[in-house]
Amino acid sequence: MNTLQITGMQNYSTLLSVFERYHNFALSTHINPDGDAIGSELALYLFLIEMGKSVKVFNTDPVPKNYKFLPSWEIIEGVKAVDTYRPEVLVVLDASALARIGKTLSKTLRPIHKLVNIDHHATAEAFGDINLIMPSASSTSEIVYKLIKHSQTPIGKACALCLYTGLMFDTGCFRYSNTTVETHRIAAELLEIGEFAPDEVYRNVYEQLPVAKIRLLSEVLSTLQVTDNRKIASVYATQAMLRKTGTTLDAVEGIVNQIQAIAGVEVALCVSEMTDRSTKVSLRSQGQVDVSQLAAEFEGGGHARAAGCRLVTPYLTALTTLVQTAQRYIDRSPSEDMDCRKD
Ligand code: 5GP
Ligand code: MN
Repeated sequence: MNTLQITGMQNYSTLLSVFERYHNFALSTHINPDGDAIGSELALYLFLIEMGKSVKVFNTDPVPKNYKFLPSWEIIEGVKAVDTYRPEVLVVLDASALARIGKTLSKTLRPIHKLVNIDHHATAEAFGDINLIMPSASSTSEIVYKLIKHSQTPIGKACALCLYTGLMFDTGCFRYSNTTVETHRIAAELLEIGEFAPDEVYRNVYEQLPVAKIRLLSEVLSTLQVTDNRKIASVYATQAMLRKTGTTLDAVEGIVNQIQAIAGVEVALCVSEMTDRSTKVSLRSQGQVDVSQLAAEFEGGGHARAAGCRLVTPYLTALTTLVQTAQRYIDRSPSEDMDCRKD
């Protein structure tokens, strides 16, 4: 495959010329989509529509309730809607690897001409014909913002809200180490264009929790374990807990961040029991350990400070394995800090 790696600003025009050339587009993003996934996807959708293109968006998982305030969210379709549709160009956003758009979707949704990969993950694979991979970007939304700016098309109000939401989400509301002067400048510009209230965006994304999610939080936090040296904190979520609280796996998202806040903890991890008895793992680091490398040992990936993987073992076995591996990483790199990203 002839792949094109785009890293410099001048090369945005290469991708824009592909957008100019073709008419039928499909967009997709990773399973369990988050604010950056949905935000960047909808922003690019609105931009391409503005260019007069025909655009369809297909995601494996439905739009989570808390993103249904975003303009045009209802145009996002599921895997079944693909049917025999073949876009000329498929743009995959924020996914790390093609398989992460979902097993079925990655097989059925095939472009006729170009596969475009836009991502900011440190472990992103160059699976596209065109790969716009920028690990220094705070979020995929930031890359889409820069792409639109490069086109010199004015950013619309709706688009600004989608981009801001992605930026806000992936920087943990502008508090993770991927937050820069530039991130704030972009956020300010988007606020100015979009004329939305930032507190309302926050409330929509984070404060629309069903009671059930707080009950699950209570169950999961009650499993908290901290190693003797206080460097590793872990929790687990089981199918029984999900059943008891009437929640689904997506409700576990974010719990790992809470235990990362414990003083002295270097690595926080949350393991979730899947229905097929395999285990989903979420990892967070305070900076000493690159958890994207740790996750890569188990065929996962992500960023230095936030990563994940799946293990084909029961959750308690996975937990023991992960704690041991995290300890090995802590022993290996006593105090090195590094440049880090989240999502
Ligand atoms: P989370 O813990 O919030 O699910 O994921 C944290 C980060 O790790 C995200 O950037 C996500 O894309 C990445 N990640 C989570 N699970 C996996 C996985 O199974 N494979 C890969 N490559 N990345 C993952
Ligand atoms: Mn992201």
